[in-house]
Amino acid sequence: MSHLNVDLGGRPGLDCRGFCSYCYFKHVKGTTSFGCKYCLPFQKGCDYCTRGVREGYTGFKDLRTVADETLANLQITGDDIDRITISGGGDPSCYPEFRDLVELLGSMEVPLHIGYTSGKGFDDPAIADHLIENGLSEVSYTVFAADPALRRQWMNDPTPEASLAVLDRLCGAIDVYAAAVVIPGVNDGETLEQTCAWLEERGAKGLILMRFANRTDQGLILGNAPIIEGQQVHSVDEFHDTVTRLNEQFPMKISGTPLGDPSIGSPFAILHEPDLLKKLPRVRKRATVITGSVAAPFIQRVLSIRGSESRVVRVKKEIACLITADDLAGVNLRRLEEVVILPGRAFVHDAEARRILSADGVDREVVRGPDMLTADAETSMGMTRTEVLQKEIDGFAALINTINLHGR
Ligand code: SF4
Repeated sequence: MSHLNVDLGGRPGLDCRGFCSYCYFKHVKGTTSFGCKYCLPFQKGCDYCTRGVREGYTGFKDLRTVADETLANLQITGDDIDRITISGGGDPSCYPEFRDLVELLGSMEVPLHIGYTSGKGFDDPAIADHLIENGLSEVSYTVFAADPALRRQWMNDPTPEASLAVLDRLCGAIDVYAAAVVIPGVNDGETLEQTCAWLEERGAKGLILMRFANRTDQGLILGNAPIIEGQQVHSVDEFHDTVTRLNEQFPMKISGTPLGDPSIGSPFAILHEPDLLKKLPRVRKRATVITGSVAAPFIQRVLSIRGSESRVVRVKKEIACLITADDLAGVNLRRLEEVVILPGRAFVHDAEARRILSADGVDREVVRGPDMLTADAETSMGMTRTEVLQKEIDGFAALINTINLHGR
């Protein structure tokens, strides 16, 4: 069984009826090449870390192109497809030929998923039935708030009542994972509780809350911070408390990013499983693992339990996958071993990382670790606890093997 991805192209903000006030792609200008694990060893910058990360497509592809690409991909994957996911840089609900697209994909009689939509492009509630009739089985849908006035103001949604009516209908018929970026003083507190109750009554499978980030260290790496001048943000702990409390209050699953998924105990659910921890390989060598400030204490605990004597070093950036060269420049080099392991997905060119981390005259080897050590809430939303634990076992086993292979 395989999975077919249908990419509509499109540009965030521009191909979704104008920017939401909180969109992380707002104010992005020009293109910088961060460097990443896909770059050639002698060249900083590749398509992924220059264009892909900012979703720098030109515009929506026309239906003909989408259909041709889908057909070509089908020939590669074969007939044995168990789901089709519609995604894009722009918002699928704003795709000009959305009805025809859904009909075309629906004719393949395979469950359809929409990877993410804000619903801003839905002006007519009847589109919900069209989607259901054509096999839509799962959608991730931004609710932001159940109050249409807030959607209108903060999401730039010209027809918020229709968008919420579509969400309402879908909740009753298919698997809906709602999403909301939480902005203090706007859609948190009582408003958020009302939104949870609204979704719960309608039968949503879950709600994923995303803490609003407004600073570079919180993850805005495209040179566009602040997104909203003067806007207050939740600390990671405050946000975690809100997510945990709401998940206890409502039967529907509620999780949050960066922390966490309380129903599963992730990220790093393995820390609650002593028997599984014992199955991980022992750490036999010394190497410094560099990571983001949120994950660092968790990773340190797992590695220490498996015998590591080296320190995990945290950078100022909260999210490991968004570490850039600037973060490495802030590391105290005296704390580093001779071998340093970077998060697999960090946006740093290997050669540059080595130069920065050897600036004190110690020639350090820089190695890439695994892409993921756990499932963030966006990933874990549709997963079972066993699946998340398996992901963590795989991730940590790969990390420890890397330490044992390259360490001193
Ligand atoms: S719908 Fe998503 S990508 Fe489009 S402006 Fe809003 S937050 Fe940005």
